[in-house]
Amino acid sequence: MQSDSFDAIVVGGGLVGAAIAWGLRRQGLSTVLLDEGDVAYRASRGNFGLVWVQSKGLGAPWYQRWTRASAGNWPELAAALGGATGTDVGLRQPGGVHLCLSDREMADRAARMSRMQAEAGNTGYEYRMIEAPELREMLPGLGPRVVGASWTPYDGHANPLRLLHALHADFAASGGVYAPNAKVEEGHAAPHDFSVFVGGRRFGAPRIVLAAGLGNAGLAPRFGLAAPVRPQRGQVLVTERAAELLSMPTTTVRQTQEGSLMMGDSMEEVGFDLRQSPDVMRQIADRAVLSFPWVGRLNILRAWSALRVMAPDGLPIYDQSARFPGAFTANCHSGVTLAGAHALLLAPMIAAGALDPMLDPFTAGRFDVRAAS
Ligand SMILES: Cc1cc2nc3c(=O)[nH]c(=O)nc-3n(C[C@H](O)[C@H](O)[C@H](O)COP(=O)(O)OP(=O)(O)OC[C@H]3O[C@@H](n4cnc5c(N)ncnc54)[C@H](O)[C@@H]3O)c2cc1C
Repeated sequence: MQSDSFDAIVVGGGLVGAAIAWGLRRQGLSTVLLDEGDVAYRASRGNFGLVWVQSKGLGAPWYQRWTRASAGNWPELAAALGGATGTDVGLRQPGGVHLCLSDREMADRAARMSRMQAEAGNTGYEYRMIEAPELREMLPGLGPRVVGASWTPYDGHANPLRLLHALHADFAASGGVYAPNAKVEEGHAAPHDFSVFVGGRRFGAPRIVLAAGLGNAGLAPRFGLAAPVRPQRGQVLVTERAAELLSMPTTTVRQTQEGSLMMGDSMEEVGFDLRQSPDVMRQIADRAVLSFPWVGRLNILRAWSALRVMAPDGLPIYDQSARFPGAFTANCHSGVTLAGAHALLLAPMIAAGALDPMLDPFTAGRFDVRAAS
């Protein structure tokens, strides 16, 4: 059997695995990235593209801090990828708004933002609730039903497909080994000594990172870890291109670099069902048209559904195995937003051999699950 040894094995070539593998290469580790392929459920190819901070971490200020840190690291990631590959990953961070279509929504949102600011304590959390007249000047073409919005300066968006492409391209160009069509099903774990077997080939390393999205649920127990993630379906609609009209993204409508309008994205508990449904698509389109009536004049060119990688409490799971030191897992439903943190903060921790205590609250131990032996 062919046997190859590396400093690190990363399982899963979506946004999470690719960002970590890229970061490990940057730390000088020889790294192999094993990816099942297009047959898997790939959130990284079907998401909404927000680099979003403002609603993350109510009741969990450590998640707010991690998300802010990621948004803060994004420009360095985008610049590094742009410099190395020539790919503009489309990062724009002009701030962002969550639109409210009723007084009730506005009141709920204001209460939420105020609590988030209180929870942030001395790390600060800048936001404003903006009433409709001022908002109309910021976002021309706003519908009459919009009563206001919450705004923070931290939000933005990017082109997630270009990000994924650039991470892979630079990972390979810098000597990383990418193995597609490589579904990991068998492995052997011992402290700082891991092997996985794919197609009659053995890959060995003292570190392994499980970043296989929904595949992590089944893989983690083999490596002394737990990843109780479930699928949550989201649907997205995309229009033809329009002149540049939206100066900043909103949670449900954003204008891409190319000019098309993306509308999203539902949150449906339907298991592994990837079908699209006209009723949900209609709800998404209706809200977009209530927000910006001119969007109703644009043709929808594409629509899709994809599955989020969702933990029971909606927060990421980062963990290291107590039984098999050197085994790590990373799972999240905001892999675009968190790409900056995964590439530039998490990967160095993994390279150094241990997660920083700041990530302790993200352990799977917070759930009633036990890492299998
Ligand atoms: C509709 C929708 C909208 C979203 N919007 C946003 C957004 O605006 N902003 C944001 O930050 N995030 C957003 N997300 C979330 C984001 O897309 C995900 O957090 C991210 O893509 C997860 O990446 P991942 O690499 O963990 O998973 P995936 O993209 O699912 O990739 C997992 C990879 O692992 C591979 N794999 C699985 N099992 C195995 C195995 N056994 N062996 C080898 N390889 C394996 C698969 O082939 C796949 O390539 C959205 C998601 C959805 C569905």
